[in-house]
Amino acid sequence: MVNLIDRFGRIHNYLRISVTDNCNFRCFYCNPNSAKDCNTGKDSLLSFEEISRVINLFSSHFGFNKFRFTGGEPLVRKGFIDYLSDIQKLKNKLNFKVGLTTNGYLLSYYLPKIIDAGIDYINISLDTLDRIKFKQITKIDVFDNVLNSIYNTLDYGFDNLKINVVVMKGINDDEILDFVHFAITKNINIRFIEYMPFSDNDWNKEDFFSYFDMKSIIETKYKLIADNTNNNSVAKDFILSGYNGKISFISSISEHFCNSCNRVRIASNGDFRTCLFSDDKKSLNFKYLFKNGFDDNDIALKVIEMINDKWEKHPDEISLKKLKSNNMFMIGG
Ligand code: SAM
Ligand code: SF4
Repeated sequence: MVNLIDRFGRIHNYLRISVTDNCNFRCFYCNPNSAKDCNTGKDSLLSFEEISRVINLFSSHFGFNKFRFTGGEPLVRKGFIDYLSDIQKLKNKLNFKVGLTTNGYLLSYYLPKIIDAGIDYINISLDTLDRIKFKQITKIDVFDNVLNSIYNTLDYGFDNLKINVVVMKGINDDEILDFVHFAITKNINIRFIEYMPFSDNDWNKEDFFSYFDMKSIIETKYKLIADNTNNNSVAKDFILSGYNGKISFISSISEHFCNSCNRVRIASNGDFRTCLFSDDKKSLNFKYLFKNGFDDNDIALKVIEMINDKWEKHPDEISLKKLKSNNMFMIGG
């Protein structure tokens, strides 16, 4: 076992796997306008056996101890829920933690199986507490299903639930204090995420709402106390003095956290990505490697080569827009 360390001394131990780029929502900031559906043909997706092989490889070669399933929407991939029992077996053998990021629509239905399979962390995305706005953002009228998924997950006594809120000026920046109230009354962690530019979304600077502005709004009413208990977190975590709940900020644009990055990704088409925004010069596709008979030692060497080339930090937001190969719904956040 070797640590997967890059030129800047960052040790990588966390892999996020996008299991599909298909989704039952059409959030305009992620998969906008023409809303191309699943670009990744069924034959290009990693099979569940291949996903297990990837996990085994990163765990045994590089000591990875955390994996997350994302998408697209992971819960729309056929067979995914049943596959979680294989993950449970792998977890018992290799000892790692597993997270799931979901839009929450189908979560209530599958929750018992997901919790039984020993999923350690669940993140549910919810950008508004207003039913009408919800439909405008996601293009689907299932606000109540998502809210119920949150309540049901809490009723299960599941502790590691986070709610992801992408904050956009003129869309939901007026709801920041409502979300804080939600965090307090439900005693949960709300994570406010800066709106990020991708080649396929309509991001522009006017829609951007910075972490500083979000924090200032909250501080008009609450005292935020920094919470540094989670060293591995890319989020800035805070407790609300005198109240339940927790608030976090993901300030990818205004104050990047690249110097503490410990994560790599596999997009829905099997592409290995050293950064969410990466413009990797070399490419590495796991589907290709598996199909062409590369063994795990060969693949591990190729991963090390890619990590040696990982950039120190991602470029500014304007340059990010120009990177043509990036789509959030393929990479998974
Ligand atoms: N479908 C699942 C969901 O929505 O939670 C998982 C995939 S989604 C791509 C993962 C996360 O990325 C979500 O929390 C979503 O809000 C976030 N996201 C998507 N596009 C984004 C953007 N342009 N800027 C910031 N966050 C974004
Ligand atoms: Fe689908 Fe998640 Fe993207 Fe929304 S953010 S379109 S739910 S993948």
